[in-house]
Amino acid sequence: MALIVQKYGGTSVGTVERIQAVAQRVKATVAAGHSVVVVVSAMGKTTDGLVKLAADITNQPSRREMDMLLSTGEQVSIALLTMALHAQGQEAISLTGAQVGIVTEAEHTRARILKIKTDRLQRHLSEGKVIVVAGFQGISQTSDLEITTLGRGGSDTSAVALAAALGAEKCEIYTDVPGILTTDPRLVPEAQLMEEITSDEMLELASLGAKVLHPRAVEIARNYGVTLVVRSSWTDEPGTRVISPRPQPRPLEGLELAHPVDAVEFDTDQAKVALLRIPDRPGIAARLFGELASQALNVDLIIQSIHEGNTNDIAFTMVKANLAKAEAVAEAIGPALRSNPTDTTQAEVMVDQRMAKISIAGAGMIGRPGVAAKMFSSLAAAGINIQLISTSEVKVSCTIDVADCDRAIAVLCEAFEVTSSPVPQGNSLQTQAPAPEVRGAALDIKQARVAIRHVPDRPGMAAQIFQLLATHGVSVDMIIQSQRCRLVNGQATRDIAFTVAQADAQTAKAVVESAAAELGFGDVAVDEAIAKVSVVGTGMIYAPGVAARMFKALSEQGINLQMIATSEIKISCVVAEAEGVAALRAVHNAFGLAGLKRTVVPA
Ligand code: ASP
Ligand code: MG
Repeated sequence: MALIVQKYGGTSVGTVERIQAVAQRVKATVAAGHSVVVVVSAMGKTTDGLVKLAADITNQPSRREMDMLLSTGEQVSIALLTMALHAQGQEAISLTGAQVGIVTEAEHTRARILKIKTDRLQRHLSEGKVIVVAGFQGISQTSDLEITTLGRGGSDTSAVALAAALGAEKCEIYTDVPGILTTDPRLVPEAQLMEEITSDEMLELASLGAKVLHPRAVEIARNYGVTLVVRSSWTDEPGTRVISPRPQPRPLEGLELAHPVDAVEFDTDQAKVALLRIPDRPGIAARLFGELASQALNVDLIIQSIHEGNTNDIAFTMVKANLAKAEAVAEAIGPALRSNPTDTTQAEVMVDQRMAKISIAGAGMIGRPGVAAKMFSSLAAAGINIQLISTSEVKVSCTIDVADCDRAIAVLCEAFEVTSSPVPQGNSLQTQAPAPEVRGAALDIKQARVAIRHVPDRPGMAAQIFQLLATHGVSVDMIIQSQRCRLVNGQATRDIAFTVAQADAQTAKAVVESAAAELGFGDVAVDEAIAKVSVVGTGMIYAPGVAARMFKALSEQGINLQMIATSEIKISCVVAEAEGVAALRAVHNAFGLAGLKRTVVPA
């Protein structure tokens, strides 16, 4: 008899009729021979209503009292659902987070789960009862046993954490959409339902997925290997499966806090080609990577940062064996880039074979500004200079001198307490279908870009900048350190650019500017009118030409790429905000994401 955790969102328990329908589904699951733990959200828009009440009283409510207030919403729905189960003849009991023993940090309104006690749950399950648990809430470990909440949308996280703690066969998230779609259907009506997606892909698509599934829930599913299904409360359609590789065993203590980084990866078989001073206009990246793809040359990292004047630099890496061919492509394309007579640029190609790529990977980096900073400062403390940086939601990659690689691995494994040997990248997962090159596309328009010019090219600079931002609570999304090297007063410098939430942009600028004189770098510029468009897919690791197709689709719309950053399974481009939606549509279309999958049955 399998144990299944089912979570029902606010809309699914929004009315008495819907609560009764949920009770029927739960009862049917029991009748099919399963034990069931149900997690529910507050009814409908209850939580929003409570937030509004608080706001009507004060614009600075105490975070403790907010938790006291907001946690009541779920207590209503667990009681009503349990009554509905009783009315249908199903034995059931409701429990608050505290009664279960969902122990969290004492951080009100955004607590992370530390552990879940399972003895009471096991006892009721063995009595044959359905247990209905209040989502989104927990209790602090301190002697005062404070009520905490996990942050808006947190009942998904409660459900997956319960599934992990109980070793459930699967966790089903019932919601008002049919599952996870290839992109946001409000922006691209042709978006299609996905049958499956890996948890890493889902995390990389955090900005897309967050509306459907709390990213912290995906983190837990990935870390503990919980099988997750997102499906509609209104139909019997199977929905979307979020699949995770068999995880490294990890203790349930410190559930959401331990080990934000679980792997250190390196590659010494890579070489880099950089095109310097190429014109900053649409179509250049498309042309370069199109040419590389037509020769079946697979590229790994691609990094392009902010332009300077009317030129830009693009750097990419590939296996050493392909260096000669890639260099030839880059050399051949150089003159062609100047076909426009107004271009006075002097494009130049540079290659580097003495590089290594080193990365940290893990689900716990999202929203934790200190993780990247810790990587940079560990490398700096070992005197290792960072050449290029490219980050994504679940990975930070740097290129360094190959001679430093062994030391870099050692310091990073120590800093992040990684004891296992490096995980093979991306291909360890058995999915039912072969992994698609591109699984989904996302647009994030709520970001701003901060660019720091002329950062001295020596160990410790990135460390200091991102440590400072972390100390000020600024969460950085994408970080790019580019190839561009400038001599300023006889010293080599590079530009570093990063994106942050728009709300944090001015703080970030002020924080960085306050250190400019001491650290010796130039201007700090903020651009709030940017958008990030990304494509994600595990299959792109082995498929040449994915980047080329993305860049081509964008250039056909006349969209200029302001920045490019990649991880193994993701390509992100920063474009002007006004072009964001057009960019998303073009990319979604270019990868045939519309129309190839099973049609969505409307609810
Ligand atoms: N009721 C909480 C909220 O609205 C938690 C949840 O629904 O997941 O954010
Ligand atoms: Mg939700």
